[in-house]
Amino acid sequence: SDLLTWPGKLRAALEPILPATGVGADSVGRLIRHRFGKQVHERLVDPLVGSIYAADTDRFSLSGVTQILDLAANNRSLLIGARRARRKAPPAAGPIFGAPSTGMATLTNTLAQSLRASGVTITTGCRVESIHRSGTGWLVNGEFADAVVLATPAKTTAPLVAPLSPDAGATLAKFDHAGVVMLTIALPGDNWPADYTKRSGYLVPKPVQKWVTATSFASSKWAHWQPKTPEDGVILRISLGRDGLDLTDQPDDKLINAALSEVGTHVGFDLQPTEYRLTRWPAAFPQYRPGHAKRVLGIETALATDAPGIFVCGASYKGIGIPACIQQANSSAQGVAKYIGVVLS
Ligand SMILES: Cc1cc2nc3c(=O)[nH]c(=O)nc-3n(C[C@H](O)[C@H](O)[C@H](O)COP(=O)(O)OP(=O)(O)OC[C@H]3O[C@@H](n4cnc5c(N)ncnc54)[C@H](O)[C@@H]3O)c2cc1C
Repeated sequence: SDLLTWPGKLRAALEPILPATGVGADSVGRLIRHRFGKQVHERLVDPLVGSIYAADTDRFSLSGVTQILDLAANNRSLLIGARRARRKAPPAAGPIFGAPSTGMATLTNTLAQSLRASGVTITTGCRVESIHRSGTGWLVNGEFADAVVLATPAKTTAPLVAPLSPDAGATLAKFDHAGVVMLTIALPGDNWPADYTKRSGYLVPKPVQKWVTATSFASSKWAHWQPKTPEDGVILRISLGRDGLDLTDQPDDKLINAALSEVGTHVGFDLQPTEYRLTRWPAAFPQYRPGHAKRVLGIETALATDAPGIFVCGASYKGIGIPACIQQANSSAQGVAKYIGVVLS
């Protein structure tokens, strides 16, 4: 690969002979730099992890990237460990990326539909303002519940639990969340070189980063956005902002101009979109600072002691992506079932 210089490659090649580093520092950036050198961190791992989680990897806990955490915790060399894991892994059965072609809301809409069909009442468009103790249970906005699962972001959860568990509330209040902006653009077919159609996009390393952190060639990535004819054109999704660079308050025209100008420079020609959609995601990505797992354990312990029957789950705690959130939802359901004494089938 041309991504690394020869000195960068030689430094990375030393990794298998280094003594174990351990995971004590709990920083993705520090671990990768120590093991593989500055270039692997700056040009590969920081852009990749940073763009997935809108993170600054130097201030990002290993518990946010469990694949790296497992490799570092269980192997002297990450590279040897990764090779071993790859040999053992079953071959990928389907495509790397998957999404409902009708939009991500299909997941939650389908879940809501199936719950309602089983007799569950769901109330939406209603902000939880208060939780009070009531006998053996809790009053949520005045309605009784045996147990409560707060699946809200940590910063929102903090004032709700602070009156019930000051320790949990204080820890939750310290969580940081990063905002991002997505610009989705449609380009006519003659504004997109044919040799780019086989690529899925690119990431921008911090030393050359301005506002754009990544551009996804969405028509190459998602089957339902693939052009049927060359005239159909392509769709790009441009990500702007990250932890330490919150752009969600910037006006539309500044964001669009910056995105088109920066991406134009990256790909080497002027972009002439026919349509665009700008989406702001304020405080959407929880930032797992070093020591995150210990803090989450502290919150759970404080709640179990001070406010039994109150549970937290969601992206702020044990994994940011959707699969991790679903796993947390399942274990919260098991926790609630155990607490109220029912057996889940
Ligand atoms: C641009 C972008 C792209 C992403 N891409 C991917 C991807 O490709 N793959 C992937 O796995 N993940 C992706 N993610 C991450 C993933 O979408 C989130 O991490 C996940 O949706 C978090 O789920 P959650 O339920 O924990 O939190 P949220 O989805 O933030 O839900 C929290 C809910 O709490 C509600 N709420 C807040 N306050 C209150 C209150 N006081 N009372 C009642 N309700 C309240 C909010 O309205 C919201 O519905 C992406 C995220 C973004 C922003």
